[in-house]
Amino acid sequence: MSAAWTIVSGVALAVLAALAAGLAARRVLFLYRLIRAGKPTDRTGEVQARVRNEATIVLGQRKLFQRLVPGLMHAFIFWGFLVLFPTIFLAAIGLVHRESTFPWLGHQGWYLLLVDVFALLVLVGVATAFFIRKVVRPRRFEGSHLGEADLILGLIAGIAATLLLWHASRIALGLNEWPASWSPVSDGLSHLFGTGTATRALERVLVWAHVAIILFFLAYLPRSKHLHIATAGLNVYFGRTRARGRLEPLRFDLEDESQIRFGVGTAADLTWKQMLDTVSCTECGRCQDVCPAFATGKELSPKLLIMGLRDQLLADGPAILAAGETAALVPGAVSDDVVWDCVTCGACVRECPVSIEHVDHIVDLRRHLVMMESRFPAEAEPMLRDVERAGNPWGKPQSERTDWTEGLEIRVLQPGEPAPEILYWVGCAAAFDERARTTARSTAKLLQAAGVDFAILGPRECCTGDPARRMGNEYTFQALAEQNVATLGEAGVTRIVATCPHCFNSLANEYADFGGRYEVVHHTELLAELVRDGRLQPAAGVGEIAYHDSCYLARHNDVIAAPREIVSRIGRPLELARSGRRTFCCGAGGAHMWMEERGSAISEERAREAIASGAGTLAVACPFCTVMLDDGMRQVGSDVRVADVATLLAEALETS
Ligand code: SF4
Ligand code: SF4
Repeated sequence: MSAAWTIVSGVALAVLAALAAGLAARRVLFLYRLIRAGKPTDRTGEVQARVRNEATIVLGQRKLFQRLVPGLMHAFIFWGFLVLFPTIFLAAIGLVHRESTFPWLGHQGWYLLLVDVFALLVLVGVATAFFIRKVVRPRRFEGSHLGEADLILGLIAGIAATLLLWHASRIALGLNEWPASWSPVSDGLSHLFGTGTATRALERVLVWAHVAIILFFLAYLPRSKHLHIATAGLNVYFGRTRARGRLEPLRFDLEDESQIRFGVGTAADLTWKQMLDTVSCTECGRCQDVCPAFATGKELSPKLLIMGLRDQLLADGPAILAAGETAALVPGAVSDDVVWDCVTCGACVRECPVSIEHVDHIVDLRRHLVMMESRFPAEAEPMLRDVERAGNPWGKPQSERTDWTEGLEIRVLQPGEPAPEILYWVGCAAAFDERARTTARSTAKLLQAAGVDFAILGPRECCTGDPARRMGNEYTFQALAEQNVATLGEAGVTRIVATCPHCFNSLANEYADFGGRYEVVHHTELLAELVRDGRLQPAAGVGEIAYHDSCYLARHNDVIAAPREIVSRIGRPLELARSGRRTFCCGAGGAHMWMEERGSAISEERAREAIASGAGTLAVACPFCTVMLDDGMRQVGSDVRVADVATLLAEALETS
């Protein structure tokens, strides 16, 4: 290769690389400045957990492997990208000077073997991706930018194919700096080439094509949805490390009032992590696929929500950087219905392979609508009013909180009395709703039968504020949280058993932000422990019982084994198609217990799934699930019994 040609190639490569890098840098700088302009949120601590997430979610592709074939497809491409990355430098050197390669690495047979294997796997991955997108056509891709994805996949295939063919042409010409036997794929392909001038020219074409695709990719990437290649790792690192069920509290006590956030009204109100979320979305639709709202025909798709926020953020980006006017996100980027359709089940967050926090986005949008604009579904108004005025969403007098205890002789903890071993936090549903009261009575009877020293707060117990918080009324939630924390502190309570998973979640995960730190267990956990210890000895049953996991127990708080332990003692357990951490909502979360539902009912969809299991009884562990699924069964005309695990255990105990 002549010196002149080497100089021409080098200059051409330098110009093209500078152009591509310049275009990419311009966009990256804009995005960096934009994300830096986001509102603060602290994601710096707990480095160990962050590194673990990076290792398992990014490198190990843990979340993607929840679906085997698409998981393998993505892993092949992603791992291939990591292995093949140094070949960019090998190719750049080979392009400038045909007889040279990268020092040391370019001579290593083992590395060239890896390159061969992973380039092939990348091609297999791309072919699988095309098959899934063009033949299988899953619904999760509805609304994604499919044309752009095709182009990106084509570019990836182009990079892998030109690399293999370039190596093959070098082997044919005897230019390989490594033993050809280490490159079985390239060596095999080398037989397609001759050894003359045509192959020498083709070798140049292939290396140029390879590098040109890479440079185009570099310039195009920051402007495409595949920006996630650069941002996903960061988004996972800065993802949540604390409890999934905990919402970030708003600070109303800041001295500088201009710094107080009232949720998110425009893109300028997003935190930097929320901005990073939006530009990390891969449009894979895994969130949409598991969303109960989307599955039942509602307008909400968590994927389209994040894409809508991203589009608005990028459109408003220059204005945000110039501190100018920004457009309202609702109804600009997403409609009011989208914001209110969410049941905060967290399925999307669990599924998202790049750790996007959809629930926080939705609650922040609600916070702005509720607190700044008093804009929310009219039917939820009585609930919010009752929670504020009466201390419970049913609007009943607090004096009626103990009505369910009639005839049970349950200790009501009075001010100044010593705290019991464990406080039974009954929750508003189990205290006031007729069907849910059965759960409270059963739980209390079981605790009495096991000789547990417990008491209730009675009229001093207030709503934990969960429905108000999930509705976006953070003021009311914080007022109730502070009141309950003060009551519990005064009573010297350290250990709590809760019946309602929503109360359980607030007490265990959210009250610590207001000074309330307790050991909190769900009633199924305590009852399972009592059965295990022999303090409760239920009769073994023969009936088939399917257990429905509540979102706020299983998905948000990992309480999965305890209720099953009880079910397997009192009957023959059956699993529903969607269970454990990948359960399906009953439709009541996110304050939907008090809202009208658009589209078909989530509870009916779940009821049909339970019926399909063939079980005669559907066990639940949440008062909201009890009410919703019982209604769902009635609506679909089924006589499958819906009962709380505590009720079934109490019956089995009576039988014994
Ligand atoms: S939290 Fe549940 S209902 Fe809300 S967007 Fe996510 S999956 Fe859909
Ligand atoms: S939010 Fe996450 S799961 Fe949903 S489409 Fe984007 S990357 Fe996929």
